[in-house]
Amino acid sequence: KLYNMVQDLKGNIRVYCRVRPIFNSEMNGVIDYIGKDGSLFVLDPSKPYKDARKTFQFNQVFGPTATQDDVFRETQPLIRSVMDGYNVCIFAYGQTGSGKTYTMSGPPGRSATEMGINYLALSDLFLICDKRKDMMTYEIYVQMVEIYNEQVRDLLAENSSCTRLDIRTCSSEDDGLSLPDATMHSVKSTKDVLQLMEAGEVNRAVSSTSMNNRSSRSHSIFMVHVRGKDTSGGTLRSCLHLVDLAGSERVDKSEVTGDRLKEAQYINKSLSCLGDVISALAQKNSHIPYRNSKLTLLLQDSLGGQAKTLMFAHLSPEEDSFGETISTLKFAQRVS
Ligand code: ADP
Ligand code: MG
Repeated sequence: KLYNMVQDLKGNIRVYCRVRPIFNSEMNGVIDYIGKDGSLFVLDPSKPYKDARKTFQFNQVFGPTATQDDVFRETQPLIRSVMDGYNVCIFAYGQTGSGKTYTMSGPPGRSATEMGINYLALSDLFLICDKRKDMMTYEIYVQMVEIYNEQVRDLLAENSSCTRLDIRTCSSEDDGLSLPDATMHSVKSTKDVLQLMEAGEVNRAVSSTSMNNRSSRSHSIFMVHVRGKDTSGGTLRSCLHLVDLAGSERVDKSEVTGDRLKEAQYINKSLSCLGDVISALAQKNSHIPYRNSKLTLLLQDSLGGQAKTLMFAHLSPEEDSFGETISTLKFAQRVS
């Protein structure tokens, strides 16, 4: 109980940072210090050492040796609150190659200890279902979609390539679904979840071979719907959104044209809209600009109000990524 109170005092928006390990092929790192209190020091490689240090503050920082389990444990209380009726959104933000997919899904061909938040979250929700089975009956459904060039596509439909979905913003509808036309899949075990996750990943990959790694240029959204009924007939309905965002790297406008430029502009716009919405919520503004992008429109009911939000800012530690690292850190500062 006390632990819950401590969590609640943190408010509804949290920002965590995760720094992936440096690869052998990469030379110098820019991460100077990672504190247990959530502080992060980076070194600007273009400055002399005494002027190079910049410091940032997060709710948590995970360094290159943090395991998937370490990260999950700090996320678990938030995820569990879905079973009490809270809507929760978790975002993975960062440049391509910084570890977003690693955090959310795990690496390709992942082992049991490499499973990401999506899998660990569902497996934890099933655990709660079982623990509470004398008081509550839960049903869990999932949908999985991607947003590419401001179009929503069902990743779990029989023929996912030809569906373009409309977003419903009227939360008063009985089922509370923002994507009533996306296929819904009932899940009862982690095996069900894995099957769906893999099917969705295949559908994403199919388009990426034909369109040159499109997966890093689309947002992938794993939507978990929870319906609960207690023994006295009370009901609850809530949603957990797990979002692997498009790569945040800036493309050089002088180097790309046509479709690639359009894509880049869509990504910039939707990520900056997301930043606008979260920072407006953090500042408790009266107007929240949800309607400026498909992503924020889709997540409208899960951003703000009683809903809880967690943003992971992912960093690539090597010197060559310093510019993108600073831009990710600035985005994170803006939303916290
Ligand atoms: P993104 O989705 O942001 O483009 P990925 O998740 O694909 O990045 O990560 C890029 C590479 O780095 C992958 O090979 C991935 O397995 C590896 N990687 C990322 N984060 C970690 C981590 N915390 N520990 C070990 N390897 C990681
Ligand atoms: Mg990825």
